[in-house]
Amino acid sequence: MSLETVLSRIDQDLPAAIERLLELLRIPSISTDPAYRNDCQTAADWLVSDLQSIGIESEKRQTPGHPMVVGHIDGPGPHILFYGHYDVQPVDPLDLWDRDPFDPALEDVDGHKVIRGRGSSDDKGQLMTFVEACRAWKSVHGSLPCKITFFFEGEEESGSPSLIPFMKENAEELKSDVALICDTGLFGDSTPTIVTMLRGLLGEDFTITGPDRDLHSGMYGGIAMNPIRVLTRILADLHDDTGRVTLPGFYDGVEELPEDVLAQWQGLNFDHAAFLGEVGLKEPAGEQDRMPIEMIWSRPTCDVNGIWGGYTGAGFKTVLPSQASAKVSFRLVGKQDPDAIRKSFRDYVESRLPEEFSIEYRTEKGSPASQMSIDNPAFEKARRALSDEWPHPAAYVGCGGSIPIAGYFKDILGTDAMLIGFGKDDDQIHSPNEKYDLSSFHHGVRSWARILDALAKQG
Ligand SMILES: [Zn+2]
Repeated sequence: MSLETVLSRIDQDLPAAIERLLELLRIPSISTDPAYRNDCQTAADWLVSDLQSIGIESEKRQTPGHPMVVGHIDGPGPHILFYGHYDVQPVDPLDLWDRDPFDPALEDVDGHKVIRGRGSSDDKGQLMTFVEACRAWKSVHGSLPCKITFFFEGEEESGSPSLIPFMKENAEELKSDVALICDTGLFGDSTPTIVTMLRGLLGEDFTITGPDRDLHSGMYGGIAMNPIRVLTRILADLHDDTGRVTLPGFYDGVEELPEDVLAQWQGLNFDHAAFLGEVGLKEPAGEQDRMPIEMIWSRPTCDVNGIWGGYTGAGFKTVLPSQASAKVSFRLVGKQDPDAIRKSFRDYVESRLPEEFSIEYRTEKGSPASQMSIDNPAFEKARRALSDEWPHPAAYVGCGGSIPIAGYFKDILGTDAMLIGFGKDDDQIHSPNEKYDLSSFHHGVRSWARILDALAKQG
């Protein structure tokens, strides 16, 4: 009963909620450009006073970069930490926008309404879905069902330099039973998702050296070993004919999907032909005994990202180069250990080098995958609550890229994070004409009300 009242309040209040979002969108809080430093402060101030207007104790907290906004409100249920970011991407090229990116408006696109403007989807519109749900709840009941900490960042689009130090310094204040991150999207148009696995990343950048100078192939070709020949053989043998990575121990720590998650993924009916067709491809190139969706979300990968050596200019030079180089990266899953894989990779490469060759590495730090423990009952409560709001049941999904914040919550605060968002693939985030579906926004607000209700319930 009480949830229904909140949901109808959300419906009635939608026009006012849109006006508030438009106000926030008018502040050009581009975090990467120093010219907008004051605007980032203004956006943080706006959020502080908006939270205060709901009765949430909140303040702007300065950092060496742009400020954080932190708010607290007490409630009977579990302690929830909500994260979003108020900074936005730059807007150039400006001439590709159909309107001023910071003069946002409701537009009609093919019969449905969208909110157009920089930050409408990433992430101001998403952030406000949660704030609006809290506002409606508070105005109906006078209080909130859970204890909530609001945590808004202003540097997400510029590498989050202050985030880790701030979280470490304020870990006690930010610790919670579960964290909610709203910066992701739906699957397709209307399947809500909870991202529970994020792949890690490991890169190796290296150069092998054979002869101590570039040689002429007329004189040395045939007798001298060419480093490019050695390198390409090494790289080619990183995968076998079935798409598996051949490094010894590479699959150590890679886990099979739980059966219910596997069933959810099958139910998504991922159209790999359409997905690949959009970029001019046809056949999935990963492990051939896996579903294409697993290749993106839950299986580890190895990719050669760059390869160079010898003469690459116009015309021809019959050089036999002294050196050859490559950049290789790995997306990691489950409990794969970046250090162990780096060692295995190096052992493999070095075992294939002729004895007189040498190798030099330019190394970057690797990061392991993040995997949330979905046996925390909050996950299933949230999944069911989302399923009640949308036409399709919600799914636990993976994310091929990395969203570092989820890992930080786990490592620094010891808190599992649920990544739940209502963006769509065609929102054009980071691009001209960014937009947010009005119905995504509306159902997003309603979803959070349902999730708060579900999380507050015992058992
Ligand atoms: Zn974002």
